[in-house]
Amino acid sequence: MSDKELFLTVVGGTKRVGALNCYLLHSEDVVVMIDCGLGLEKRGKENIKVYPPFAKYHNMLGQLDAIFISHGHLDHVGALHSLDTFLWEHGLSKPHAFMGQFTFEIADRHSQWERNKKLFFPHRLFQFGKEEKIKFSSCVVQTIPVLHSIPDAYSFLFTMNGKKIYYAGDFRFIAPDAHQVTAFQKRIERLGKKEHIDYACIECTNVFETEVDSEKKALTCIEEIITQTPGRIIFTTFSTHVDRYKFVADVARRQKRQMYSAGGNIAFMFDAMGISAKRASEEHVMDAHAIVCATGSQAESESALIRALYNSEKSEFALRPTDTVIISADPIPANGIEEDVCTMVSDLLGKVQAVYINEDAPDYFPKEAIRRKIHASGHGKRQDLIWMIDTLHPKTVIPIHGDRTKREALAEIARDRGLNSLLIEEGEIVSL
Ligand SMILES: [Zn+2]
Repeated sequence: MSDKELFLTVVGGTKRVGALNCYLLHSEDVVVMIDCGLGLEKRGKENIKVYPPFAKYHNMLGQLDAIFISHGHLDHVGALHSLDTFLWEHGLSKPHAFMGQFTFEIADRHSQWERNKKLFFPHRLFQFGKEEKIKFSSCVVQTIPVLHSIPDAYSFLFTMNGKKIYYAGDFRFIAPDAHQVTAFQKRIERLGKKEHIDYACIECTNVFETEVDSEKKALTCIEEIITQTPGRIIFTTFSTHVDRYKFVADVARRQKRQMYSAGGNIAFMFDAMGISAKRASEEHVMDAHAIVCATGSQAESESALIRALYNSEKSEFALRPTDTVIISADPIPANGIEEDVCTMVSDLLGKVQAVYINEDAPDYFPKEAIRRKIHASGHGKRQDLIWMIDTLHPKTVIPIHGDRTKREALAEIARDRGLNSLLIEEGEIVSL
């Protein structure tokens, strides 16, 4: 390896959406990790948490200088405690970890939840929403805030060995406040004008989607449903959907409804978000107008909603025929999740009064479920991805965060614009 060489090792993150995002950017003298996420794998009927294969990268992890985490979704930060354990067990030194304050709150609480221990990484937190330049060894990293379905999300521009590599993280161009969108676009425009980017790692989650989403519209619709529903409501979305949970908490307060949380992920997320909700284990005090925020939007086998449905002795609450369930999420189109959510919706319909699903749910979902616009995707649509590529104008686009078909589709967009594209696979080490 000459000192001019730079490599990208794909520890995980290219097989499907929402799993194991973890990359190593390395030269002879610097090793940087970008994101450190977990995945969910289906084994029989169980969803098992899986972690990046750190043992395979033992040597490189022994020289790890820094970790940069883009945002607090568990597919980007949920394996940090597992890496922490790995480094400790192998007597390897702890790298410096860089992330937003909220991301750290999630990682730390997740670590305490999973192994009863706090995170031990020496860490530096980004100034909320600010661009910063971080220098260490021969590497300079610029943090560029992005918009996503979780606050405190960042993208990074790495300058290493004379090359510029942009990692966009997960992003979308929607926010409850339109000014935030304009500010985000301006940041990317500035970046595109100022920097000659060699490689841009761009997510491709929604590369086939073109319909424009609106978070505001989704929130308005959720409030309408809550207002029109006199009985108890079971509400579920991705457990990291801070803005949506905060909104539901506001509606609950305005309507004088008690809010409860059910399921481990929501309990520690609510702690991190500062949302006060009683734990739903106090079933006897759950009144007829309560809003129960439960895990289970993806029909995860251990989630509160699935337990309430199939395993009531192990559940924090029992479903009642007068309940209304709001599933404010789309099923992740991978790993049999859509089918699981479809079965869950069918079975819920037999037990509760009404089930609301997002308008864009797959066509084969039960007709009896009520379709409303109650979810906006956290990821940019096809036109947003194109805008990003056109604005940054990198020499090479590296599609990430999606299965092979989606990554190929994004690569084609890059090629149509005369840019290079680089398809990378889990386990590969590519020379940049
Ligand atoms: Zn995300």
